[in-house]
Order: sequence, then C-alpha cells, then structure tokens
Amino acid sequence: MSVPFKNKTVLKILDYYKNLWTLSYTSAIAHWDLETYMPAKGAGARGEALGRLSVIRQKMFLDPGFVALIHKAGREKNLTDQERGVTRNLLRALRVYEKLPSEFIENFERLTNTATVVWRSARDGNDYKLFEPYLTKIFDMNRKAAEYLGYKDSPYDALLDQFEEDLTNREVSEFFGEIKDPLKNLLDQIMRSEKHNNSQKLEKMAYKIEKLKAVNQKILSLFWADFGRFRLDVSSHPFTTSFSGNDTRITTWYHKKDFGRSVLATVHEFGHALYDLQSGPSLEMTPIRSESLVIHESQSRFWENFVGRSESFIKYFKKDFESAVGQKLSTQDIYSYFNNVSPGPLRVEADEVTYHFHIMLRFEIEKDLIEGKIKVKDVRDVWNSKMKEYLGIAPRNDSEGVLQDIHWSGGMVGYFPTYSLGTFLGAQWEEVIKNEKLIINNYDGIKMWLKDHIHKYGSTYTLPELLKKNKMKFDLKVNLNYLQKKYGKIYGFKA
Ligand code: MG
Repeated sequence: MSVPFKNKTVLKILDYYKNLWTLSYTSAIAHWDLETYMPAKGAGARGEALGRLSVIRQKMFLDPGFVALIHKAGREKNLTDQERGVTRNLLRALRVYEKLPSEFIENFERLTNTATVVWRSARDGNDYKLFEPYLTKIFDMNRKAAEYLGYKDSPYDALLDQFEEDLTNREVSEFFGEIKDPLKNLLDQIMRSEKHNNSQKLEKMAYKIEKLKAVNQKILSLFWADFGRFRLDVSSHPFTTSFSGNDTRITTWYHKKDFGRSVLATVHEFGHALYDLQSGPSLEMTPIRSESLVIHESQSRFWENFVGRSESFIKYFKKDFESAVGQKLSTQDIYSYFNNVSPGPLRVEADEVTYHFHIMLRFEIEKDLIEGKIKVKDVRDVWNSKMKEYLGIAPRNDSEGVLQDIHWSGGMVGYFPTYSLGTFLGAQWEEVIKNEKLIINNYDGIKMWLKDHIHKYGSTYTLPELLKKNKMKFDLKVNLNYLQKKYGKIYGFKA
C-alpha cells in the first residue's frame, strides 16, 4: 500500500480523531468488562458512565473546528482511498449527530438503558406485557429518528442505513422475497427425509466445562497462535470486541451439554476477530477499521459454516470432543450433529437453513411497525403466527418467542437483516477461495487470502466497493446452491 494518509486536512482530522477514538476505546473496555467480569451490582454505575461517555463523545465530535475539517475534506479532490474512506465515514456519523437533537440522543440512551433491564426481567419471567410499554416507546423513537434522519422510500431505510451503509428496505425485501420459497422447499424436503432427526443424541450429551474450555483454546491456537494479541473469555452471550489490532477479544459460552454450540460460537467469533486482527496497521485509531456489519458477519459465518462444520475440522478435533464428553464418538455422528437441520424457536440455536426464517420474521415485523402497519401490542401474536407459518412451530412462551433477543431493548431496529446478508456473503467468499484452489483446512492460506482481499482494507471501502474491487457482485444463489447441494447429500435427496 502506498502512503495511506497524506492530505493535510485529513491528517488534522486523524489527529483530532484520536480523542474520539480514546472515548470509544474506553467505552469498549467498559462494555467488555460489563459482559465478562463485572459484579452484577456494578451495572448502575457502569450504565451511568457509559451514557455520559456517549454524550461527551457527541459533544467532542460536534466541535466546530472538527466539523469544519470534515466538511472541508469532503470537498477535497485527489484523496487516497483511505482518506476518502475516513471522510465518508465521518460525514455519515456527522449527519446522524447533526440531525438527531442531542436531547433526543440522551432520552434514547436513557430509555434503552432502562428497557434492557426491564427486558431481562420480562424475559426471565415470560412476561411480554411487562416489556410492551418500553418496546412501544422504542419503536416510537425509532420512527422519530427516521424522520429526523430522512429517507426516500420507507422510514425503515433510515434505520437500516445506520447499521449497513445505504442498505434499503427495497433491497432487503427483494432479498428475502427471493430466498423464501427456495429455502421453504429445501426445508420441506429435509423434513420429509427419512434421515431427518429432530433431536441428535450428541446434543444432549453432557460435557466437562473445563475440558471444553481447553478444546476451545486448542482450536484457537491452531487458527491464531499469537495470544499476545488475542484472548478468549466467557460471557452470557458470545461476542467479539477489538480495542486495537493488538488487543482483540472474543467470548464464548458453556451450557453443560451440547458442546457444538460452544465450539461453533468460538469459531464464529474467531471469524469476527480475525477481521480486526488482520486489519491494516495504518488504520489503527482511525474511523475505518472494520465498520460494515455485513462484511463482519460474512467473516464469522465463513469460519463457522465452512470451517467449523466441515468434516476435516471435526476429524482433527474428534479426540478432543471425546475427552470433553468422556466417551467415544464417530466422525459421522459429530458431522450430523454439527449439520443437523431442525426448526426450533430460538434464533441463536438455528441451523444454516432455518436461520433465515428467524431473520425474515424479525425484518417483516420491524418494517411493519415502523411503517405503521402493525402495533406493538400485536407483535407477540404476529411473531407466533409467522413462526407457525415459516417453521411449523409455536414458541412455548414469550422468553423463547418474542422476548428472546436483546436487540430491540437496546434500541436497535434495522440490525437483523445484516445477519442474513452476511451469511449469504460468507458463502461467496468460500466459493472464491475454493476457486483459488485453497482447501478448507489450509488455515494459513485462507487467512492470507482473507487478509489480502478483505481484512487489510478495514472499512476503507463500502460493501459494494469492496465487492467490486474483488470482481464480485452480491449473489444470493451461491449460498442457496451450497445449501441445496450440502443438505441434499446429508438428507439423501437430489438438489
Ligand atoms: Mg456474529
């Protein structure tokens, strides 16, 4: 790469940006700690500190000198790709800060902090009614945010754009419209197959947590030897956070049984972490390290689905899995267990085929709520009837139904579609990598490829630009074909 940053205005921007970066860095550590080691009663003070940090950050961002520099950079010609990336990213953030009144941001922050606490008790007590008034306010405020931010076709566009640059309601609707029937047909074929099994015996097999922790460490040492830059911890829900390229952390979870859930979560989060670990060193402390949620999820899904669920991976770690459960297992049994398709109520436990119905349902509900076609008081019923329609099942209660996800309580509306889009894109990376004649257990080769074609750029480019750079176009058929072929083979029917 030639010198990425040399424009005087951009250099001034990056210098000031380090202050903002410091606040984000501090918030990220506070978040990570909150999810991993913080004693539960620290939550009040932590929420207060995080809320204030975000207000301080907004004020610092809106410093008139800094704002003027961003606008100036927006008018400059002959910027390098990285400089254009920085400018684009900051103009986007600025638009949000300038359009949303600070009072609105503070109220939203306060609402979602409380709502998350209420959501937790509502979920634990299976009580949608308890959460309903908060959800109503959250959707009201999101609708208001859409009006402040502005949109062309649907207010939902303004919300989608917050999570994936320029993503629109129309694109997402088209995407789900095109995958719905093929996936439904595939699922029907799987369910009719004699080989279909709703429950796998390995799923119920207990394991020793200490032993599985060692297995997860071993997997990560194989993928990434340098634990001076990377670590694994435990949290109630797996996630990845990157404080810098030299300090990137993931978490996984343990449930006493169902070891695949922990292993695949570890592999998934590693995929996220790798993007940060291999992002260009010159992008450190800039706003273009790894912003796109779709690209991020395409990385985690690539590792989870194509590496973690592969026969070679399973063979390699078979003895380790056996030691965790304390009995002999066959590669075939582990493979069927890791690749079992079975409709269930929970998104985070869903397999590669049913997963997208969970997302489709959330997308349709969000869109209809934002466009005023349904009301929050109807959400539970809509949820349950769509579950029945798409997956043929009914949640037994609200906590495994409408209350299962944390996203809405945190105010995030428009986030879910990035999961499906990322998963589909993950299959495209696999296809390109395969065409490069790289085999799936050549981890070093794959990491190098991902670094050179994706990671090193951070978010220098938008998603469409990155695809173009790699001579690719978003193509949902790649994942559909892969699913049909793979599961046709497993369940014994022709795709
Ligand atoms: Mg993920």
